[in-house]
Amino acid sequence: MPRQIELDKTRNIGLMAHIDAGKTTTTERILYYTGRVYKLGEVHEGTAVMDWMQQEQERGITITSASTTCFWKDHRINIIDTPGHIDFTVEVERSLRILDGGIVLFCAVGGVEPQSESVWRQADRYQVPRLAYVNKMDRTGCDFFNTIQQMKDRLGANAIAIQLPLGKEENFQGVIDLIKLKTVIFSDEDKGTTYHEEDIAEDLKDEALKHRAELIEALAEVDDQIMELFGHDHEVPEEILKRALRDTVIANKLVPVLCGTSFKNKGIQPLLDAVCDYLPSPLEIPPVEGVDPKTEEVKTRQADDNGHLCCLAFKIMTDPYVGKLTFLRIYSGILKTGSYIYNANKGITERVGKIVQMHANKQEIRTEVYCGDIAGVVGLKETITGETLCDKNHPIVLENITFPEPVISMAIEPATKADSEKLFEALKKFQTEDPTLKVAVNSDTGQTLISGMGELHLEIIIDRMFREFKVKANVGKPHVSYRETITKAVRSEEKFVQQTGGRGQYGHVVLQLEPGEPNSGIIFINKITGGDIPREYIPAVEQGVKEGSKNGALAGYQIVDVKVTLLDGSYHPVDSSELAFKMAGYHAFVGGVKKAAPVILEPIMKLEVIVPEEYLGEVTGDLNSRRSKIEAMHVRHNARVIDGTSPLSEMFGYATALRSLTQGRGTYTMEPESYQRVPKQIEEKIILK
Ligand code: GDP
Repeated sequence: MPRQIELDKTRNIGLMAHIDAGKTTTTERILYYTGRVYKLGEVHEGTAVMDWMQQEQERGITITSASTTCFWKDHRINIIDTPGHIDFTVEVERSLRILDGGIVLFCAVGGVEPQSESVWRQADRYQVPRLAYVNKMDRTGCDFFNTIQQMKDRLGANAIAIQLPLGKEENFQGVIDLIKLKTVIFSDEDKGTTYHEEDIAEDLKDEALKHRAELIEALAEVDDQIMELFGHDHEVPEEILKRALRDTVIANKLVPVLCGTSFKNKGIQPLLDAVCDYLPSPLEIPPVEGVDPKTEEVKTRQADDNGHLCCLAFKIMTDPYVGKLTFLRIYSGILKTGSYIYNANKGITERVGKIVQMHANKQEIRTEVYCGDIAGVVGLKETITGETLCDKNHPIVLENITFPEPVISMAIEPATKADSEKLFEALKKFQTEDPTLKVAVNSDTGQTLISGMGELHLEIIIDRMFREFKVKANVGKPHVSYRETITKAVRSEEKFVQQTGGRGQYGHVVLQLEPGEPNSGIIFINKITGGDIPREYIPAVEQGVKEGSKNGALAGYQIVDVKVTLLDGSYHPVDSSELAFKMAGYHAFVGGVKKAAPVILEPIMKLEVIVPEEYLGEVTGDLNSRRSKIEAMHVRHNARVIDGTSPLSEMFGYATALRSLTQGRGTYTMEPESYQRVPKQIEEKIILK
């Protein structure tokens, strides 16, 4: 079956906003008007279709990005829902990675709020072409132009109105389209489904022409054809205006601003028109880059149905009806049901069992999907988020989505054995969906330890565990995941001998322990070539060493970055066993670490803090008191960007602190960067805990 919608009429977009700006309501209205959802659900009633999980509805924030497809005029629009919360940097990263354009929502009363600042900066970083939509024009105190001014002042955005609001607050009726020079009025009777255009009323004409002239002037600065017409005082035809606007939006030089009230069903359809008119199709974004997995040669894939298949797995969800669903963005080629595709990261072939496209909470089974599309695939067993799936004969590995190592953990103690089973099942499910969640079981205490990227991240996992899986458990406080390592090279010998009646135990090893490279973990090298220890016992020695590295000598944290060399040893023809050598390896390692001047390492976070100039001094002062190292400061648009690092342990509650230092205007992102040695006086405190 050939494609029904041309590639140049495909849009992959995300809606971005701070919490409460109306993202869920707007998405839901989009799905309503595009004919996919037949009943309007209100967020406050908790039925909006985009919010997948009950918990999201209760908290009123959208955590997990789901992708949904809808049709508007002759276009296919794939909406990738992006989370607005800063703790979900990975979610934001993976959404921004695969979308081609965005709508940034603002609340007409609140204007540019701190969180809108952070999503905006993230979109800047990924150079996402975008439209701005000023929502809640029905609310008392709304101010369209003030919001635009704030976008300019606070975000440094080249924002310009392409609509004017018609009325405001309870008298908001619709918009004045500055391109067509028409008024668009929405009917209150049928939830805004019908709307009509009419000529602009005489008393508003001057205002409309003034703003249209401003728009043309702004375009003339970046577009030659408009400059030419503008320079000669010629009328600018609608088509040329649209073409120029489209080019400048895609080039990220200008942000058109629209307005409406999603809740009162006004303004959505023109917003959809603008998505089609001004945001890029997959043909208009640069080709994706990757490397040949064998030769490492750089390769690109153009958006083309006839090109070699190339897809990126960007999210995995478990769906109650279809099971494990792997979401793919198809960058080139056609993906077909029943075909075999090559996972170029793992070098394995996977079968495409079923292709599903999501229309809000409904699913459509497709036999094939085309380049530029986003779809869920059932049947991929091994593929994880971030991996590339492609034509085996033309392999390519796209840049992986990077997931930082977790740095914060929480202990969970299930109440009963049955709860322990439920817990295990829940965590298994969460882990397939969320590559940043790690789970470990302490074999001594039976305690389960979950680790993640931040306080909120773990809080949400725990919440889902209670709610969806009804696990009864005690949950500890979050704490920093410290590590331990050694600073000196030592030799360590252990003879494990037991004579308890019957057959005895005998294992004897000599190990050399040396500080390893950062991030190298535990490296085990065997230097025994003769028959001092029979070959079959060597893996047992390594196993003992690895066991021994689980609990550090100082405070019981995982030991890392140690190079262990097995130098020597001996065996007994009757009494030696795997167990004996494992025990010898274990004790030699543990004993060696104690002599090798062990130290504690702490996670260091890479930090980007963005603040308006006037708060710079206070914010840097505060960072200094948190043992932060400021590495660079620069100007991005009209804000100051501070780049640096900081120990995680000093950053608990930073969100609140930054908010109060900057009257809510500062934003930051933080991700794990490395592990470094803890200063002596702090190490003592950690040991005493
Ligand atoms: P999200 O957090 O960005 O997804 O925002 P929601 O869509 O959940 O909306 C937050 C709240 O604002 C809800 O109570 C909505 O009913 C309300 N809301 C959304 N859009 C509008 C609007 O246009 N006008 C008014 N008055 N309220 C709105």
